[in-house]
Amino acid sequence: MDKVILIRFGELFLKGKNKQFFENLLIRSIKEKLADLPCSLHFGRGRYTVSDYAEEIEKTVVSRLQTVFGLQSLSIAFRVAADFEAIADTAVALAADKRGGFRVNVHRAGKSFPMPSPAVAAELGARILDGNTQLHVDLHTPDFTVNVDIREDGNAYVYADKIDCAGGMPVGSAGKGLLLLSGGIDSPVAGYMMAKRGLTLDALHFHSYPYTSEQAKDKVLELAARLRVYAGSMSVVCASFTAVQEAIHQYCDPNYMITVMRCFMMRLAERFALSRQCGCIVNGESLGQVASQTLESITVTNHSVESLPVFRPCIGMDKQEIIDISRKIDTYETSIQPFEDCCTVFLPDKPVTRPSLEHVRKEIAKIPDAEGLLDTVFATAEVIRIS
Ligand code: ATP
Ligand code: MG
Repeated sequence: MDKVILIRFGELFLKGKNKQFFENLLIRSIKEKLADLPCSLHFGRGRYTVSDYAEEIEKTVVSRLQTVFGLQSLSIAFRVAADFEAIADTAVALAADKRGGFRVNVHRAGKSFPMPSPAVAAELGARILDGNTQLHVDLHTPDFTVNVDIREDGNAYVYADKIDCAGGMPVGSAGKGLLLLSGGIDSPVAGYMMAKRGLTLDALHFHSYPYTSEQAKDKVLELAARLRVYAGSMSVVCASFTAVQEAIHQYCDPNYMITVMRCFMMRLAERFALSRQCGCIVNGESLGQVASQTLESITVTNHSVESLPVFRPCIGMDKQEIIDISRKIDTYETSIQPFEDCCTVFLPDKPVTRPSLEHVRKEIAKIPDAEGLLDTVFATAEVIRIS
């Protein structure tokens, strides 16, 4: 008998011609995740297993697998020969320290095992009751379930719990997106949510050095490193926004500062995205959260992007919901470190909440050689690989 981790993936996306494509990405993610841990991986049809690992690393293996998008659940199972006595001994041992109601589920993959599934379940139930008088059978609302999976290859798996994994689609299955990554709470969550739908990511961060500090940039790199746990390796493009902000500050109506800034950020984002083969832009906007995230503001900034979709996965979420996810993915504590973001430099008293496109275009037109400024931002950006 040995202990293995059984891994289940979502069946929905594994249909038709794309099945192999999705599975290859999933297998690659799992291999990468466990590369430094001594264990054996087996990728069978419809079922993956991790085996031959030391007891001490079991928790680590489980928690790493829980960060792989595309996996639904896993179970720690005992693998025994597909022989009734061996299965029964294991099932009885598994139930030995339990209390309350239980049921037995038996799945028999092939018909070579001599007993039909209902007979196996009934007989195992009786043995378990004999072995533990604290238990009673409860088929409808059991406190725990003994699962038995009898396979064609001569093995049977016996396990109790299913541990939830992250769900979603394998990273890379949906292409690549450019995440606008600030130092705040929302944008790492936005990146996480799109990675969950299968995007790999590159990140774009605007800093206003020397108005913003070196630590503010380190904080963003730290966020990218934390996001990498889920989204895989990514490049962080760090672009200096200082000259652009100074020009806006000098020439534009202060109340339009943020709106104009956002428009330029979006234009640059599209340019960086296209140059890095990203098929979409992702940001952390949430409707109505701040002045720059009203419907009118988003309408105006959205006009700055011509050819790519902009995904805003936090758009319908409350701040608390976003915070809950940021805690779960372990970016929250980094996000709340108090370093200034470039958006907080030259902050106006009364930012417009209902900008019109026409007016914003007039404000932008006041800046001499805005195109040249954007060209410089694009040309001087620094790229840092997080892997
Ligand atoms: P966050 O918590 O992500 O910073 P926020 O609530 O502070 O968001 P804003 O500052 O209005 O909201 O930013 C909205 C979105 O614009 C961010 O989620 C992010 O995607 C993008 N953004 C803001 N500042 C920057 C920046 N300095 N560099 C890159 N993207 C940025
Ligand atoms: Mg912010």
